[in-house]
Amino acid sequence: VSSSSNLSISSAIGQYKPSPDPDGRRANATFVFLCRNDDLDGVLASVQSMEDRFNRKFHYPWVFLNDEPFTEDFQQRVTLMTDSPVSFGLIPQEHWVQPDWIDENRARRGRQHLMNQRIIYGGSVPYRNMCRFNSGFFFKHPLLQAYRYYWRVEPSVRFFCDLDYDPFLYMEEHDKIYSFTIALEEHRETVKTLWDSVKEFVAENPHLVNPENAMDFLSNDGGEQYNMCHSIWTFGAAKPIQNSLNFWTAKGGWYYERWGDAPVHSIAASLFARKDQTHFFRDIGYKHDRFGHCPGGAQWTAGRCACNPNDAFDYSAGSCLNRFEALFGVPIQ
Ligand code: GDP
Ligand code: MN
Repeated sequence: VSSSSNLSISSAIGQYKPSPDPDGRRANATFVFLCRNDDLDGVLASVQSMEDRFNRKFHYPWVFLNDEPFTEDFQQRVTLMTDSPVSFGLIPQEHWVQPDWIDENRARRGRQHLMNQRIIYGGSVPYRNMCRFNSGFFFKHPLLQAYRYYWRVEPSVRFFCDLDYDPFLYMEEHDKIYSFTIALEEHRETVKTLWDSVKEFVAENPHLVNPENAMDFLSNDGGEQYNMCHSIWTFGAAKPIQNSLNFWTAKGGWYYERWGDAPVHSIAASLFARKDQTHFFRDIGYKHDRFGHCPGGAQWTAGRCACNPNDAFDYSAGSCLNRFEALFGVPIQ
């Protein structure tokens, strides 16, 4: 990041507390929360839910990022919700806005096409900025540079169950790189050329493809066509995406189509890491818009989950959880 970028970084408020891990261990990890000032109500609800169900015991820091400066009011009210370190950062312009080299006429045609198809956010440029930033730029922010694992949080999400162990440490100890609670199919029109780009990249960089990859999660025919499966990334480490980012950035698909950050991350994790490095957190109850996951059985009881396992999206039409489980031949507990 160049020194000319208009970064405003308030130093982290709050102090680390000891980890509840018996050995006092803590992962090098943080929450990352991209949002606008207008999202405040939903932000407070999400932070409260996370603190209540997990973080009041674990005290991981919170990093809030915005493409506009956070207001004083926003910062004060959010900071009141937690006694963990909190910091607020401004995203540098060059990580957010549509790059100059994008052909705006072509981009406009792409937006119009998706609007005609009535695809959600089809005409939105800010949404595309968000997808590009979340795909490959968030971890470059100075406030995030020091961390290895991220737990992505959004406004108005809910965490349904108590989580009494540290999922970051779980990821570290089990060599996981990417985790999710919801897997689903993307709108085909938003990623029309994404798979062609992936194939091109793979042809040029065959050594980057992991021999134990999860191609069968992404494709029903051994890689010829994309089946639209992706997972909403909840936890991630930046590594898989870094290798291929420059390539994807050069394609401009975030603007000419509407590539989502979730397919981009899922494809990178599925091809460039071992399949067992992606983890399904069955025990984390989570709700995002109409998509939810609620564990059943003993996990429901242990987690005092405030959700109905029958409402879970897990095996509904449009879910890709079964394809993920098929990689391993057994249901993932
Ligand atoms: P969806 O989950 O794909 O429906 O998209 P959302 O509208 O929930 O956006 C995803 C995340 O990006 C949320 O955390 C939003 O608060 C954030 N976000 C979306 N658009 C913008 C934007 O223009 N500026 C900022 N700062 N955050 C945004
Ligand atoms: Mn959302």
